[in-house]
Amino acid sequence: MIPLGADRSLVAGERVLLVDPKNRRYLIRLEPGGVFHTHSGVVAHDAIIGEAEGCTVTGSSGRGFLVLRPTLSDTVLKMPRGAQVIYPKDLAAMLITANVSRGRRVLEAGVGSGALSIALVRSGASVVGYEIREDFAETAKANVADACGDDADYDVVIKDVTLGIDERDLDCILLDLPEPWKVVEHASMALKDGGILVAYLPTINQSATLRSALDKGPYCLAETFETLRRTWHIEARSVRPDHRMVAHTGFITSARKTAGAKKN
Ligand code: SAH
Repeated sequence: MIPLGADRSLVAGERVLLVDPKNRRYLIRLEPGGVFHTHSGVVAHDAIIGEAEGCTVTGSSGRGFLVLRPTLSDTVLKMPRGAQVIYPKDLAAMLITANVSRGRRVLEAGVGSGALSIALVRSGASVVGYEIREDFAETAKANVADACGDDADYDVVIKDVTLGIDERDLDCILLDLPEPWKVVEHASMALKDGGILVAYLPTINQSATLRSALDKGPYCLAETFETLRRTWHIEARSVRPDHRMVAHTGFITSARKTAGAKKN
């Protein structure tokens, strides 16, 4: 992660978001002498470096580009990807569902492009990721280092999570892979009592199969939901939902590990 300029000005090496007059967004890394080409003209990086966040720079075509530091949401939607990332609306829901906070011990599998990893690390959790593809693991590590710093509390192990989990006493396990029901038993050994399992799945059939596996225990409070985010058009007297929305991303299923019945 690049340190900010003393006066919080924009510095070479950091990523910034350029927003053109049509609200199209571009994520670029500032390099001395660098040039960014878009449909709306060319922007010199040197015109941005040293300026304040929130400034507007003028491109070669005379059009202005607003310059902002990217939010987590901008970063995950625009960063380099191997696998499909989890949408920001679902990242937010997963963080709360998994009750993630500073110091929590978390296992994540698979890490893919590292979008969920960034959200977890930024919440202060101590995160171990399992991933079967080395190229994805490298992309995830680079994306996390870029967003959270080289000293992020984050490690990725090349490992198939359906074959077992080495960690113990975990606060939560987050799964984004096709057959999470194969992980349910391993997860029950790796989670602390009361620990939380959260899985993200694209179809309801997969979610139902997972729920059947969770029903066999030792889990309680199993729940499956989806999040719908509908933006609104608000302009003078025209106030209504936007015509388009992302209608489907994935289903989130969670459950808590029980300790089993206590003997009297
Ligand atoms: N949540 C990620 C995207 C994950 S995509 C993000 O937000 O960026 C699913 C990932 O799971 C892929 O990278 C895939 O290689 C990995 N994967 C699939 N099966 C796996 C398994 N059994 N163990 C570990 N990783 C697995």
